[in-house]
Amino acid sequence: MELLSVIVPSYNEEENIHDFYEELMKNTPFFQKRELDVEIIYVDDGSKDKTAEKVKELAGKDKRVHLVSFSRNFGKEAAIYAGFQKAKGDYAVLMDCDLQDPPSLLPEMFRYIDEGYASVATRRVSRKGEPPIRSFFARMFYRLMNKISRTEIVDGARDYRLMKRQVVDSILAMAEYNRFTKGIFGWVGYETKWLEYENVERKKGETKWSFWKLFLYSLDGITAFSTVPLAIASFMGILFCIFAFLMIIFIIVRKLAFGDPTSGWPSLVCIILFCSGVQLFCLGIVGQYLSKTYMEVKKRPIYLIKEEI
Ligand code: UDP
Ligand code: MG
Repeated sequence: MELLSVIVPSYNEEENIHDFYEELMKNTPFFQKRELDVEIIYVDDGSKDKTAEKVKELAGKDKRVHLVSFSRNFGKEAAIYAGFQKAKGDYAVLMDCDLQDPPSLLPEMFRYIDEGYASVATRRVSRKGEPPIRSFFARMFYRLMNKISRTEIVDGARDYRLMKRQVVDSILAMAEYNRFTKGIFGWVGYETKWLEYENVERKKGETKWSFWKLFLYSLDGITAFSTVPLAIASFMGILFCIFAFLMIIFIIVRKLAFGDPTSGWPSLVCIILFCSGVQLFCLGIVGQYLSKTYMEVKKRPIYLIKEEI
């Protein structure tokens, strides 16, 4: 028998723990046919509701259910990493607790694994049910990201992914503190089959990602997988130097040819303001990378475990 580890990051998902289990277990006939043992690892990311209790209830009834409870909310990325570390399976699959990643896709995913793919990823082809403004910014982010990063990051890609042990080990080898899973998956490579499906709306509870949280996350993604913003900052600096040089020549020539009409202090103020704005912007970019490096060199643990079953 081979073992499949199902990793479920859960943050305040008390309503979904049981539903997810039921839904996953609908695949039992398939698991038997494919000769698969299953372990389900719920990673409770410091939930403030009864998520951990609900998982313990399940674990009491079913030995295949495991719980990893964090000491506080460390974020989904940390939960994913913990799940991968705990997974003992020959295969691992990452799934959201809210049933937006339908477990009914598993048989199809395994078909591709058996055909020889190392991992099977999913992307949603629609963003139905999502606020249009959010979809707009998401699309902008992916377009920008793929321009400035050499790692391929697929638009609409979900974290829902089935992979072989080899891929899991590669992901674990990337022990960086600033984790951006979508980029990490792309970075490790291997033959990946993409499955597409229509967006499924969250069954119960509400999304844990506010617009602001997503915005900060997108900055994490950019700084983790591209250094192009740093190049842009230097490029802008050079551009402004050239511009200033040309202006100086222009002013000297004008002075020599037409005397010295002392006017134009408003334009001077505008230029000073503009240049200091650009400087602060570039300094900000450098600061972003510096802060990430700072967090990285501290080598803090990615998560802390309070309880484990
Ligand atoms: N999640 C988590 N830690 C967090 C935020 C979210 O473990 O800090 C989990 C959450 O419980 C869910 C998954 O990540 O299983 C996806 O979150 P959500 O459904 O809120 O995101 P959305 O689908 O709206 O992008
Ligand atoms: Mg969701």
